[in-house]
Amino acid sequence: MRKVIYAIAIICLFYTIKTQAQTAAFDSAYARQMVDTLASPFSLGRGYYRNADENAANIIATEFYKMKVKPFEKNNYYQQFHFSVNTFPHTVNVALKKRQLKPGADFIVSPGTPATKGTYKVMWCDSNTINNRAKLDKFISKKYPKKFVLFNMKGVNDETTKKIVGKVISSNTIGAKGIGQIKDKLTWSVSTTVDGFPTVEFLTGVITKKKEAKKISLDIETQFYDDYTGRNVLGFVKGTEVPDSFIVFSSHYDHLGIMGTEAIFTGANDNASGCAMMLSLAKHYAAHPAKYSMAFIGWGGEELGLLGSFNYVEHPVFPLGKIKFMVNVDIMGTGDDGITVVNGTGYKPRFDSMVAINKKLNLLKEVKIRNNAANSDHYPFVEKGVPAFFIYTLGGIKAYHDIYDKRETLPMTKFKEVYILLTEFVKTF
Ligand SMILES: [Zn+2]
Repeated sequence: MRKVIYAIAIICLFYTIKTQAQTAAFDSAYARQMVDTLASPFSLGRGYYRNADENAANIIATEFYKMKVKPFEKNNYYQQFHFSVNTFPHTVNVALKKRQLKPGADFIVSPGTPATKGTYKVMWCDSNTINNRAKLDKFISKKYPKKFVLFNMKGVNDETTKKIVGKVISSNTIGAKGIGQIKDKLTWSVSTTVDGFPTVEFLTGVITKKKEAKKISLDIETQFYDDYTGRNVLGFVKGTEVPDSFIVFSSHYDHLGIMGTEAIFTGANDNASGCAMMLSLAKHYAAHPAKYSMAFIGWGGEELGLLGSFNYVEHPVFPLGKIKFMVNVDIMGTGDDGITVVNGTGYKPRFDSMVAINKKLNLLKEVKIRNNAANSDHYPFVEKGVPAFFIYTLGGIKAYHDIYDKRETLPMTKFKEVYILLTEFVKTF
């Protein structure tokens, strides 16, 4: 009997060791820790107030250093570049009559909004007017030099109409003091320029009747930087067989920053999650070097228009022609419905091998194909003829470029599966 117990114990021990060995390459606690650190409210949305972007870059460089991912230049993981950026580090108040609205939740100011202080009479343009072409044409043919014009887009579904109103809003052809619109979803971004007038977007339900918004008070402070220094973070692990050829994994670490002191856009999914994936892969290849050299890049300035990657392709630290393949990851936090491979059509055999791995290992619900698009940092590389994919996860939470993209609610549903897919994909080279 005792022998049997010993035998069972040994078998159990063997299986414990075996399963540990199989999953040892992926450290889920590490990935979660990276998301939590980068998307902490203390990271201030990895924007430009208090050099929050630089702090995020430091976090990545420190991880590279700890895991012995080497810098391309001695003692320097960074590549600097310059740009201008409009920020909202202090007061961003919008009030209707005496009612103070909640920044981020009730409204956002457009990223190019200039510093503004004043109270304005509101000129309401209801959806009934917008949906009637003759009425809309009449409304937008007039000028409103003393008014804040508010377009209620709720119930406006015609794309041409939306375009017409969008153009009026972006170029203020109606000569208003400021322009607002009521929308179903608030989606923020960052701007390198300052507009000539303020724009405010209100969430549907915040203003339901004309009489609720007879007057609007704006108190918006801005800080415009005309020469801000951004940085990419670069490191590599030398290949065992073909060290002068690289497979690149990249992710942007910057996000939108803050809109006033209350609204922090922490960007857990976009793109603390992608950085956690890039760093998890770096950790793996630092411990287990691959046949090819593996390069890892954290991009700055992505949300401003792929500035870090556009800068990089003009100043590469090794020839672009030495990139065997590049995978850029952005928005890795869900995966309930699988992933999309942007530029999958550009490198179809590579895409097919990814699909085959997914099928064989039964990892994700779907590996979707998509044409190339200028929607993340792979794009400047593809433009230069570098073979590259951009992968993002599908399904799950809807938070995007808003205050709800938080670490607490980021599920990381298929993070491990995507990680396995990527490591298996590398083996096909
Ligand atoms: Zn992003």
